[in-house]
Amino acid sequence: MPHRISSRILLSSLAVCLATASCGSTRSWYKGNTHTHTLWSDGNGAPELVISYYTEKNYDFLVLSDHNILSQGEKWFPVDGGRLTEGKLQGLVDRFGDEHVVVRDEPERAMRLQTLEELRARFEVQGQFLLVQGEEVTDSFDKHPVHINAVNIEQTVAPQHGDSVADTIRRNMEAIDEEGKRSGREVMAHLNHPNFGWGVTVDEVAAMPLERFFEVYNGHSGVRNYGDADHLSMEALWDSALVTRLEENGLGLLYGVATDDSHDYYSWGPGKTNPGRGWIVVHAKSLEANDIVRALKAGDFYASSGVTLTAIKSNKRSLSVAIDATEDVVYTTQFIGTLRGHGENDIGVVLAETVSNPAVYSFTGEELYVRAQVVSSKDHPNPYAKGDKETAWVQPVLPSQD
Ligand SMILES: [Zn+2]
Ligand SMILES: [Zn+2]
Repeated sequence: MPHRISSRILLSSLAVCLATASCGSTRSWYKGNTHTHTLWSDGNGAPELVISYYTEKNYDFLVLSDHNILSQGEKWFPVDGGRLTEGKLQGLVDRFGDEHVVVRDEPERAMRLQTLEELRARFEVQGQFLLVQGEEVTDSFDKHPVHINAVNIEQTVAPQHGDSVADTIRRNMEAIDEEGKRSGREVMAHLNHPNFGWGVTVDEVAAMPLERFFEVYNGHSGVRNYGDADHLSMEALWDSALVTRLEENGLGLLYGVATDDSHDYYSWGPGKTNPGRGWIVVHAKSLEANDIVRALKAGDFYASSGVTLTAIKSNKRSLSVAIDATEDVVYTTQFIGTLRGHGENDIGVVLAETVSNPAVYSFTGEELYVRAQVVSSKDHPNPYAKGDKETAWVQPVLPSQD
């Protein structure tokens, strides 16, 4: 295992209190990626290679989320010059040892994929690195992709299909929720890349009673995070969906996650879908899967593509965000929200902007919700799109009514 110099040890000593969920308890920040592909589906890296990337970058947890499959049972991947070549196979033997790389020649040359159980035995370290079982439940309706990540499931959740996009989302969300109840685990689901294949609209995101999470940032080069002339960006979709949920649908807040959706582990740069682009940082009681998911459900986390926060505080007067600042980098915090009685064009407006640290916004009492976004002056080292700056997305809060 690599030596771990996690900043969360430092951060855990700070008094952090997000909403009321974590006040008075000891919590730490844990960094993780919840959307990761391997050779178990359409990623191009063996799972041990994929996990090694994340452990070396000091992630605390990783969710393997292949399409409609768990890393369980016996699966042989052909060494046929496609995604697995003789050269890559030799690279795995050199790196992980030939006792861990099992190859057969009949009926075809193939490598056995390591199971989650084997990977846990090799990589997990109590309190330091956790592998969480996941699946990208991959469904569609009439050419509209509907992909939902199920996190901390015990058994596979089969795509449920439906008679509309909204119905397809609802049925899959319910099936994932059922798997949580069946297994007794804390299970969460996030709706992935709504603009991929122009699959999911804002109304469909706004309508889902079980939908609490969506990807505000996905590192895959094909997901259209920024929309186009006819489609909302993920950030604009977030605000519109929040307004509809809160004002019309009687539903709760929608939280934004950032993920890698990583597929490419051998070549890097534009057009490739590499690890390390987006992640979440969760303020949890322990590095245990149920605690991580509980904290996510409480909104006790932020999403990031490079900016690290040290505290997020919210009470009935204000929302404040403290940044782990790097010298010579400017951090611009925008407090974004929608006011009650807003006009049609006043959804998701910048209520205030500051370069102070901590950045503090005082509620006026007029806000329907407020969220924050911290954009640094530093370029993302391997961006989803050219020109991306390192950013953190703070979850929306409901200003207290009293
Ligand atoms: Zn997907
Ligand atoms: Zn994916």
